[in-house]
Amino acid sequence: MYLYEWQGREYAPDATGLSSERDGTFMLAYTYVERGKFELLEKPKPFLQNARDAIVKVTLASICSSDLHIKHGSVPRAVPGVTVGHEMVGVVEQVGSAVTSVKPGDRVTVNVETFCGECFFCQNGWVNNCTDPNGGWALGCRIDGGQAEYVRVPYADQGLNKIPDEVSDRQALLVGDVLATGYWAARISEIKAQDTVLIIGAGPTGLCTLQCVLLHRPGRVIVCDVDESRLAFVRAHWPEVLTAAPEGLKEFVLAHSDHGGADAVLEVAGSEETFRMAWDCARPNAVVTVVALYDGPQVLPLPEMYGKNLVFKTGGVDGCDCEETLRLIAAGKLDTTPLITHTYPLKDIAAAYDLFEHRRDGVIKVAVSME
Ligand SMILES: [Zn+2]
Ligand SMILES: [Zn+2]
Repeated sequence: MYLYEWQGREYAPDATGLSSERDGTFMLAYTYVERGKFELLEKPKPFLQNARDAIVKVTLASICSSDLHIKHGSVPRAVPGVTVGHEMVGVVEQVGSAVTSVKPGDRVTVNVETFCGECFFCQNGWVNNCTDPNGGWALGCRIDGGQAEYVRVPYADQGLNKIPDEVSDRQALLVGDVLATGYWAARISEIKAQDTVLIIGAGPTGLCTLQCVLLHRPGRVIVCDVDESRLAFVRAHWPEVLTAAPEGLKEFVLAHSDHGGADAVLEVAGSEETFRMAWDCARPNAVVTVVALYDGPQVLPLPEMYGKNLVFKTGGVDGCDCEETLRLIAAGKLDTTPLITHTYPLKDIAAAYDLFEHRRDGVIKVAVSME
């Protein structure tokens, strides 16, 4: 039996003692070992640590570009030894005594964010800024995540949502992270009928954002990406959407909008040029929503944009609309299954990462199956 070792001692990522001493059971968990290195390790199965916890037997997990950021050391909060993975679905195995909204046997989505539901920020729906020490993105970063057979979910009443019977695990897989992000970004962008909406970035989050923007029924939607194959994917699935490459984007937007630019811009790409593209393609008084996570600071050239009177909205997802997105999936109004292009068993997760990281074979999202 291989126990995970870190710096010469046996290591329990949650640092509360080894659960193996309690029940002697182990599981496989994909683990951030050190910068540049993830490994599938045998680890103690998680156990309830708090009355508000639940233990979820994971059925499907997915790989997110944030996992790659952890691997490459660009998420300083990520703790070596932690089990990665923050987008998954499963079946509740055990709940703490204070958990009321789910029970063992329920199929659930797991929220990327941990939030208490009670602090000032949670009460306002700004759950990304929950003041709990583990508030915000903790799963698969600061505490053990879900690219594993089991995951412990704190504040289970907030962090888990029951999957409707008519919705499959695969249909629900992206609810807790990229779809939550897309839904939030569309919600805060003040989209109205007749608007021209520009979405920059057609990766997994951009494609989820696109679907959620379409729910607001704007007049036109333009999607921009550097990758022509992703634009072809957009045209194939959403023929009513216009697509454009970054070159000549501003002219394209001007030609397809009524008031000198996009009425709302959602920047989901996060590359070097895209912040400038976002505000440059916006009409005066537009909302520019910045969902992207940049590698470095961006320039806000206020003299140049003076008089344009833009509204910027920035930040990380307030992922508290999962019940609503599950309802929309059940109603056939959202469908993220075309984004899941590949599926691997947990034992082959390293190959799944390799494919995802190197964007081979038209990959958009990879599902990892625990069964
Ligand atoms: Zn993610
Ligand atoms: Zn809170």
